[in-house]
Parts: sequence; structure tokens; C-alpha cells
Amino acid sequence: MSEKRTEIGELGEFGLIDQLNSKIKIRHQETLKGIGDDAAVLDAGDKVKVITTDLLLEGVHFDLSYAPLHHLGFKAVAVNISDVAAMNAFPKQITVSIALSNRFSVEAVEALYAGINAAAEHYNVDVIGGDTTSSRSGLVISVTAIGEVEKGKEVYRSGAKVNDIICVTGDLGAALIGLQVLEREKEVFMADPNMKPQLDKYSYVTGRQLKPDARMDIIHELKELDVVPTAMMDVSDGLASELFHICKESNVGVMIYEDKLPIDKQTFDTAVEFNLDPITCVLNGGEDYELLFTISQDDFHKLEKHPDIHFIGHVTKADEGKFMVTKSETAVQLKAQGWVHF
Ligand code: ADP
Ligand code: MG
Repeated sequence: MSEKRTEIGELGEFGLIDQLNSKIKIRHQETLKGIGDDAAVLDAGDKVKVITTDLLLEGVHFDLSYAPLHHLGFKAVAVNISDVAAMNAFPKQITVSIALSNRFSVEAVEALYAGINAAAEHYNVDVIGGDTTSSRSGLVISVTAIGEVEKGKEVYRSGAKVNDIICVTGDLGAALIGLQVLEREKEVFMADPNMKPQLDKYSYVTGRQLKPDARMDIIHELKELDVVPTAMMDVSDGLASELFHICKESNVGVMIYEDKLPIDKQTFDTAVEFNLDPITCVLNGGEDYELLFTISQDDFHKLEKHPDIHFIGHVTKADEGKFMVTKSETAVQLKAQGWVHF
């Protein structure tokens, strides 16, 4: 008798998580939110604690032939802090677990930790533990971040309301383009090791890929301006995919405008050089680590003049669907391609 076998690719990453989640039972009333947001949320009296974890694997998430260990250490922390920020919380502690093969020297691990310590300083967090083990293949890094915020100020993906304004920080698509540049230079180098990589003109996009910065600056500013977004998440899989999550969790639709989408000039020019459509990169690129959030119209005046927050559209009723109005003023249906891992 043959056992049933379903390929993971059939379900996809999110389908698989949904399926696992359906069999998980919450047993403690302190667990305010388990699986399904950027971080779990735990009751801690007049505060809530948020907890999030991410796993980075050599050959899947990074390539040591172009990712310096120092930057990698920083990035492993930053991507977790980004999920703390996405809950409108402030990070406090991290744990760091690594699996190493004998390919790594003590000096290499020190370089990785120099980056981790630099990030701990930058985000004002304590490294409080972790685990170290050996690996038969490549380097594995897993970071868990713990943050906190005043109870009631935490922001979920599920709070977006019809007519809210959709906001995104910074610019999008750069990390994906940076990855294309790094992969191309690697191929050139492999073909002829005497070739020096020509990266100067691409420094912004490669920097966005190698050393992203979580937008804690925005979380501090929102607090000062007394704005609590109605829904929020970070942009790690691509804007379109993240909008789909907000729509699903909040039971709403969205209307965004192509001419409002933020893209850096270097991203635009390099996308064109690679024969990629810049707007597709903005919608479906990964690893931007910007914040996507919705605000009530009443809060718009508080953020209107912010130089790094862009108002890209508004929330609609669920049955109105998910659309982007193009520069030629036609509404096209959004597709969530996201980042395909399987
Ligand atoms: P993010 O991109 O914000 O890090 P993910 O897409 O990785 O979020 O995860 C979505 C949700 O699923 C989170 O709540 C995460 O904790 C949960 N999750 C992911 N993988 C697993 C797993 N193997 N078991 C339980 N929960 C998981
Ligand atoms: Mg996230």
C-alpha cells in the first residue's frame, strides 16, 4: 500500500503554514496571538510582548561568495527587528543560534558576530542566548527577537478598515535588483577570476540586498506623532503579496496607484538594464524590509509631510477586489506572486 504524498509546492509556504496552524491548539490565555502575524503577541500586564523568529540558510537565503559575514550577521538581526517593528513594538532582546561546518574558522565566526553586535547596538537590544551546533552543509543562522509595547498599541494585519489610507515607507524593489547585480557579477568572476567586479554604480541596490535596515525609526516617529496604524506588516515577500495578507486578515480590498509607488532611480535604471519591468520589481520584489501600514483618514494630516512615508492608495470593501490603477488610468487586478521558496 502506498502512502499519500503531497508535494510542498502544491500547498505553497502559506498554504503549508495554514494547514499546520489548523492543528495547533492555544492553551494559555496569555497567548493573545499565535501563528499568523509578523510576530506572536503575549499578554504581559499593562504591556504586550512580541516574539518572532527567522531562519537564514546558506545557499537559500545568502551566498557567502558575495555576502560579507559582517553584513550577514547584521541582516540576520535586522530581518527579525523588522517583524518586531511590524507589530508597532520596540525590540529588547534577541537570541542567536548558529550551525557551522568545519569550513568556518574562529575568525569567521567573530566576523559574523561583529555584525550581530553592531546590529544589537543599532537597535538597542541585548543578546541573551542561543545555541551552537555543527552543520554538514552550509551555515545556518536563526535569530529570535523579543519586543514590547503598551497594551492596545500593538498593530495586527487584521485591523484595516474601508477608506483607510495605505502607506509604505522608503522605496521598493531595490533588494531584488541588488541580488540580480550580485549574481551577475558572481558569474562574471567565476568565468574569469581576474575580472574585478564593477559594483560602484550599483552601491545603493546591492547595499539594500546585503545590509537592510529595519524601520524602527518610523516606529519611534509614529509614537511621537501619536499615530497608531490600523494594520501593519513589513514588506519581506513583495508589496503585492503583503497587500493580499492585509486583505485576507482584515477582510477588505485595496486600490493602489502605480504613480504613487516609491522606486529609487538606481533601482529603476538597473531594472531596465536587466530587461525587468521596474513596477513588477516594486510589486513582487522581496526583502525590502520596509513597512506597509494603513491609517485612518483622521491621522493623515499628522503624516502628510513625512519625507519617507508614501500614500499609495486606499482600503476598499472586500468584494471590490484588489486593484492597481496604472499610469494610463486603467485598473488592473493585483497578483500576489511573492517570493517562491519551494
Ligand atoms: P514573516 O515573513 O513576517 O517572517 P512568515 O511568513 O515567515 O512571517 O510566517 C507567517 C506566520 O507563520 C508567523 O506567525 C510565523 O510565526 C508562522 N510560522 C511560520 N513557520 C512556522 C512553523 N513551521 N510552525 C509554526 N508557525 C510557523
Ligand atoms: Mg513580517
